[in-house]
Amino acid sequence: MSVRGCVSVLCLVLTLPLLAAAQARPFPGPDLQQIYQRLLPQIEKIPAFDHHAHPGYADDPDVDAMAAPPNASEALRTRDDNPELAAAAKALFGYPYNDLSPEHAKWLLNKKNELKRQLAGTAYFDSILDKINIESSVANRAMMPDYLDAKRFPWVFFADAFMWPFNNERETARNPDEGVYIPLQEKMLHRWMQQENVSKLPASFADYLKFISQTLEENSKRGGIAMKFEVAYFRPTTFSDPTRAQAEELYGRYVSSGTPTENEYRTFQDFMFRYLVQEGGRLHLPVHIHTAVGIGDYFNLSSSNIMNLESVLRDPRYASTTFVMIHAGYPLEREAIWLAAMKNVYLDTSFGELAQYPSAFEETLKMFLETFPDKITFGTDCFPYNQVLGAEESYWLGAQSSRMALAAALAEMISEGEISEARALELAHAYLHDTAVKLYGGRVH
Ligand SMILES: [Zn+2]
Repeated sequence: MSVRGCVSVLCLVLTLPLLAAAQARPFPGPDLQQIYQRLLPQIEKIPAFDHHAHPGYADDPDVDAMAAPPNASEALRTRDDNPELAAAAKALFGYPYNDLSPEHAKWLLNKKNELKRQLAGTAYFDSILDKINIESSVANRAMMPDYLDAKRFPWVFFADAFMWPFNNERETARNPDEGVYIPLQEKMLHRWMQQENVSKLPASFADYLKFISQTLEENSKRGGIAMKFEVAYFRPTTFSDPTRAQAEELYGRYVSSGTPTENEYRTFQDFMFRYLVQEGGRLHLPVHIHTAVGIGDYFNLSSSNIMNLESVLRDPRYASTTFVMIHAGYPLEREAIWLAAMKNVYLDTSFGELAQYPSAFEETLKMFLETFPDKITFGTDCFPYNQVLGAEESYWLGAQSSRMALAAALAEMISEGEISEARALELAHAYLHDTAVKLYGGRVH
C-alpha cells in the first residue's frame, strides 16, 4: 500500500464517526419532545406575515368576490361545532365557556361588540393581529373596507371577472353552486367598469384589453399587491394557448349579443387568463391561484388538479411573473411542491392547516421543508363564517395550528439528524415571514 493510500484510509477511519453523526436517520430519537418544547416558544415569537386571508366582519359582502353555496358539506374540523373554536374564543376574548351553544355564544357576540366600540376604526382588527403575533395579513377581498388598516392588511384583489364578459346563462345554470358564483363574477366585472368609468363593455377587443390593464394599474395604485384567481370554482384549470386573433374574433362576435358555445367561451377565457398572467409580470403583480379542493359539493377535483397548471407555470414566456399556488394544491401537495422547482413559483400552505389537524399538517409541512423550504409561505385562509365564528377565531386557529405543526416538523428533522437547530429557526423565519415578504419588493413588511 502506498503512503498516499495509507493516508486516505486513515482519513476515512478518522472521519467515520463524523459522517455517521451527519447521516439522517429514519426515526426521531427520544429527544423529539424536548426539541419540540424548545422550538415552539421561539416559533411563537416570530412575527408572521399571513400570505392568504379574508379578514372582515360576517355581514360585510366584500370579504370575498364569491359566496358559499347553500348546504355545502364541511370536513370535520371546519364545522362550526369544532370544540377548538371555544379554545380560540377563550384565548382571544377570555370566553368563559367550553362550548359555543347559542346561549353561551351570546356572551361572545356581546364581548366582540363591546371591543369593536372601544377599538374604533382600524384598531379592532389590528388588535386581533397583535394577539396572534401576525405583523401583516394579506386581505384577499373584493374591495377594501375602511375598518382594515392598509399598512397591516395589504390588498389582494380578484381578477377572474374579466374572463366572463359574455352572456353567462349557460354557465350560471350548470349547477346550484355556479348559480351563486357566476352572477357575483358579473357583479365584480361591473364594479371594475364603474371604477374605470366604463359605462358599457368596449366594442373593440383592443379597448377591452386596455380597460383590463388600466384596472390592474389602478388597483396597484390603490394598494393592491397581487391579483388572485379562484377560476377553479368556475371552470377547469386546463388552459390552451389560443392566438390573440382567435380571442378577438370571439369578443367581436359575443360582446353585445349571442351566447358562445362552451368551447368558444373556454378558448376566449384561455387567452384572457394568459393575458392577465403576462400583465402580472409587467406590472409586478404576483399572480395568486386557488389550487385545492373548494367549498361546494359541485367543486370538481379532477378538473382543478394543480398539475393542470404545469403548462403555464413552466412556460418561459411567463418567467417574469411570480406565481403563488394558494393552498398548495391540497390534497395533492406531494406533486405540488415540485412545481416550486420553478424559480418564480411559490406555495402558500393556507387552508391545509385548517382542513387537517396538526398531526397531519405537520407531515405535509415536513415534506415541503425537506424539498424546497425556501419556496413555501404561511397563510391562515381566515374567513368570517358567521357572527360567532368570525375571522378572529379562524385567524387564531390557523396561526396556532401552523406554528405547532412547524415546530413539530422541524423537531423531527432535527431529531432525525437532517438539520441543526439553528438552521431550523432560519427555516421557521423564512416560512412564517421572510419568503413571502421578499416577493413584494418592499411593498409589505
Ligand atoms: Zn381563501
